[in-house]
Amino acid sequence: MRTDGFRFELVATAGKARAGILHTPRGPVPTPVFMPVGTAGTVKAMTARELAEPPLDARIILGNTYHLYLRPGLEVIEACGGLHRFAGWDRPILTDSGGFQVFSLAAINEIDDDGVTFRSHIDGSQHRLTPEQSMAIQRVLGSDVAMCFDECPPAGADGGAHDRAMARTTAWAARCARAERAPGQALFGIVQGGTDVDRRRRHLDQLAPMDFDGYALGGLSVGESSAETYRVLDAVAAELPADRPRYLMGVGTPDDLAHGVAAGIDMFDCVMPTRNARNGALFTGEGRLNIANARFRLDTAPLDADCPCETCRTVSRAYLRHLFMAREILYSRLASLHNLTHYAGTMARLRERIVREGRAA
Ligand SMILES: [Zn+2]
Repeated sequence: MRTDGFRFELVATAGKARAGILHTPRGPVPTPVFMPVGTAGTVKAMTARELAEPPLDARIILGNTYHLYLRPGLEVIEACGGLHRFAGWDRPILTDSGGFQVFSLAAINEIDDDGVTFRSHIDGSQHRLTPEQSMAIQRVLGSDVAMCFDECPPAGADGGAHDRAMARTTAWAARCARAERAPGQALFGIVQGGTDVDRRRRHLDQLAPMDFDGYALGGLSVGESSAETYRVLDAVAAELPADRPRYLMGVGTPDDLAHGVAAGIDMFDCVMPTRNARNGALFTGEGRLNIANARFRLDTAPLDADCPCETCRTVSRAYLRHLFMAREILYSRLASLHNLTHYAGTMARLRERIVREGRAA
């Protein structure tokens, strides 16, 4: 497959961990990388300029096919020249296929080998998503990386359900690979198989010959323990093709990111830094704190003295707590900026360490 203008360059390795550069037509993305999630065409509470400005300096963000398809709808995004122009963001965007949201948010009416019929979680209207339809939506969005439409079994699904989902996901991946794409749009395959390592390997064996531009692990961190997530990661991540970017979907905490990088993952996304920020959970070098806690009422220290973000350089914990308790809009902006900067800094430090202590590739 190998899309023109899209290439993964390996820079250094340390054990299974990798530092690299994802070259895309909209600019390079140093890896390992955390991608802020812009569910509805917006990384909540953040402007495009704030996302792109150092020290946060987000190089790639994620958009959700399911959400954007339902609202504002493709007609609007097409009329506005695609998702980049619509959102005022000129760096790379990865779109998911809609599969995960359909299976987790929507009311499923019917799933068959052709696709999924579901009702919108917004207004109950009925829609059908097939591999071809998912690819057509992602083509209109004009993302730099599209994802194959996959079936995501729920947490606790039995082996038979995983086997059926894998077979379907493989057949759907082949249909996605044949679909027309936006110019320069790369396509990643998604490995399913739950927490059974042999299933994961069997599914990877089916997808690897399809020669996708990158490979993702889907269906992790969907309710299983982190010990189980890590067991699968440790066994399977480094078996994904070494010359392609490896993407762990929808995971997770700063500890999960560190573990994923050590296992050989290059790309991550999760709503956690922004969602937790809005709920009062802030990540610092000393761990997670809850800004609502009364002990911060008179705390004049910055949220994290080592963080270079504007929040930590300009306001105190006492002020952040006040904004949170008073439900001021500014709280969400300052908290999201901090958490995203913390995640970006975590990834940058992991990358520096791989380059410094590892072997040049
Ligand atoms: Zn900060």
